[in-house]
Amino acid sequence: MLTSEEKSYLLGTIRDIPDFPKPGIVFKDITTLLNDRKAFTLLMDHLQERYRPMELDFIAGIESRGFIFGAALATRLGIGFVPLRKRGKLPYTTVSEKYALEYGIDEIEIHIDAFRNQKGARVVLIDDLIATGGTAKAASRLIKRVGADLVEASFIIHLAFLGGREQVEEETNFYAVLEIE
Ligand code: AMP
Repeated sequence: MLTSEEKSYLLGTIRDIPDFPKPGIVFKDITTLLNDRKAFTLLMDHLQERYRPMELDFIAGIESRGFIFGAALATRLGIGFVPLRKRGKLPYTTVSEKYALEYGIDEIEIHIDAFRNQKGARVVLIDDLIATGGTAKAASRLIKRVGADLVEASFIIHLAFLGGREQVEEETNFYAVLEIE
């Protein structure tokens, strides 16, 4: 478990970029957490401690910042990593889900054999941040559609005022390291 001091330290390493990528959005920049070795190690130690006892088979990460935390966690647990990518990026046969954005729709994909056709493979999904939850909900549905057991969806940062948690909880358990009210 992280102490409140440790959570404050981690939060202090995340940089706010106003009006990126468009006016009105405050972008949470995690590059300043990643290049702080104390923060990155503290975070990964915490995730390793949380997920070690769950006897997982794979970590799945959402493009693109979910790849950084997800791949690091997978090697710490000694298990495989599976990428979920935006439409058209994965080279083999895929399964896809559309989801609503503020304006328009987006689509996310997974390889049909991502979990090596291991039925009921135990999976945790990870991304850097959850806002409205649309991306994570679509990713959760894909993981289940290809036959895996989605144990939990996990986020470094939860923007708690946007209702994302409720979206994810329609599909799986929810966990966030840091809450921003
Ligand atoms: P959503 O589907 O609304 O939950 O958006 C989540 C995805 O968009 C994640 O992959 C985040 O990395 C990214 N994202 C959304 N809002 C922000 C934000 N304010 N700062 C950084 N990334 C964001």
